Amino acid sequence: MSEKDTDVRPSHFIRHIIDQDLKSGAHTSIHTRFPPEPNGYLHIGHAKSICLNFGLAQDYQGQCNLRFDDTNPEKEDVDFVRSIQEDVKWLGFAWDGDICYSSRYFDQLYGYAMELIEKGLAYVCFLDAEQTRLYRGTLTEPGKPSPYRDTPIEENKALFEKMRRGEFKEGECVLRAKIDMASDFICMRDPVIYRIKFAQHHQTGDTWCIYPMYDFTHCISDAIEEITHSLCTLEFQDNRRLYDWVLDHISIPARPRQYEFSRLNLEYTMMSKRKLSELVERQIVSGWDDPRMPTIVGLRRRGYTPASIRQFCQRIGVTKQENCVEMSMLEACIRDDLNENAPRAMAVLDPVKLVIENFDGATQYLQAPCHPTHEHMGGRTLPFTQEIWIDRADFREEANKKYKRLVLGKEVRLRNAYVIKAERAEKDAQGVIQTIYCSYDPDTLGQAPADGRKVKGVIHWVSAQECAPAEFRIYDRLFNVAQVKDLDADLNPDSLEVKQGFVEIGLQDAEAEYAYQFEREGYFCADSKYSSSNQLVFNRTVALRDTWAG
Ligand code: ATP
Ligand code: MG
Repeated sequence: MSEKDTDVRPSHFIRHIIDQDLKSGAHTSIHTRFPPEPNGYLHIGHAKSICLNFGLAQDYQGQCNLRFDDTNPEKEDVDFVRSIQEDVKWLGFAWDGDICYSSRYFDQLYGYAMELIEKGLAYVCFLDAEQTRLYRGTLTEPGKPSPYRDTPIEENKALFEKMRRGEFKEGECVLRAKIDMASDFICMRDPVIYRIKFAQHHQTGDTWCIYPMYDFTHCISDAIEEITHSLCTLEFQDNRRLYDWVLDHISIPARPRQYEFSRLNLEYTMMSKRKLSELVERQIVSGWDDPRMPTIVGLRRRGYTPASIRQFCQRIGVTKQENCVEMSMLEACIRDDLNENAPRAMAVLDPVKLVIENFDGATQYLQAPCHPTHEHMGGRTLPFTQEIWIDRADFREEANKKYKRLVLGKEVRLRNAYVIKAERAEKDAQGVIQTIYCSYDPDTLGQAPADGRKVKGVIHWVSAQECAPAEFRIYDRLFNVAQVKDLDADLNPDSLEVKQGFVEIGLQDAEAEYAYQFEREGYFCADSKYSSSNQLVFNRTVALRDTWAG
């Protein structure tokens, strides 16, 4: 982790709580965890939670676990288990000890459920889903007790064992905690803590046909791992009652506390694994790692760096206020990083041929720096040849003074090379310019014209004889509205634009995911899936300036 990352850590309410706990002696060290459910790829919202949990452990010299909250076998997959680990590592964090799995605690969880039954605090309920809903009541009306609520303890024990042995059908019964059917918190009205699922589990195979519910599993897993501060998002605020109730009523020594913070929402995209997975399944995007996706793998493929994402998470802070962060905030973080650290290069995205008629033909190898101010980044060689590519938008037959590029009869500087003057242009039958013919001034390499002529404009170029053809993929927002509601109606049909052009020859073997600044065009990196030295494909990471504002 870079120094820059750590030197300004803004304080927030969770840090205040920890400071207080350490001061009062409630804890001598802290232990956090990041608890993803392996049912999808991680997104930038998860990055907020990762940076918070792992970041706190780092700052307080505590520990942070990576725990797979894997109690829902039907939706989970080992591929997600693998990708989540990779994403956490890529973001620059390391978990303490072995990877944890809630499924490793299934025996203990079963034991604690039995303990609740033995204490008369849990019962097997045979109401069907519809009846359960009716009995539960509403926000304004209390619930009423299930007819199975007062089944004797011994009978409940036998029934629960029978559930475990697979002697009931899926959905036939559940185990419920016996709490309070009149509670203001619906989650406390005898919540289900175990259900039957005849499903293969990616970790435990077919050992189990009953699976504990999230609310029951999470708090006990935290206590088993001796987590001190269990940080989660605000939607679990009510469930904190249940979290505390479970731990208060079983014989487990550790007593973690849950604290909630607001989730990250980002404009023009979505932060729900369910919806993101719908985009993938319906092939609206090419996969979880499509560079338009707000997933870690998508951002990575797009050219985002771990440092830029950590910086973003730091800038957005940690609060209890729900809000929606502007996309420009994320983009500013990657731009700040790449402006400092990305090597410069030239690429022509919409090429038109330019011939320098008074150039004698032998290739000249010019030197250019990789970064305008960072000498340590070294230099590169640019072949200068009689034929070059420039961008179509950089030439006009006529233009007013505001147009500081190449105009017929006028001069412009070729970046890192000479001053040229446009002499004439050749067009096809439709009037589209095919070739621009120029002359160059051989005395202008690295210096202004000797006679004091002023040449204001500078344009980029690529040798047409020594260059690499490349495809450029330019991404726009995935959705047309800031607060996405309808996946179909809000989709931006033009979120991908593909262009064919050329890059400097030195980029022929450009490393995937490593961004360059293509001067005047934006930051781009070679695509990790489609790019090879035979067919270069570049993703635009981000434009040079914030073009989304206003
Ligand atoms: P989603 O709603 O996208 O499906 P989730 O909450 O179901 O996400 P989990 O795998 O359970 O996904 O999340 C792991 C951790 O990441 C949880 O502690 C959760 O609170 C946190 N998290 C998920 N989404 C966000 C978000 N948008 N902002 C901050 N933290 C998040
Ligand atoms: Mg979840």
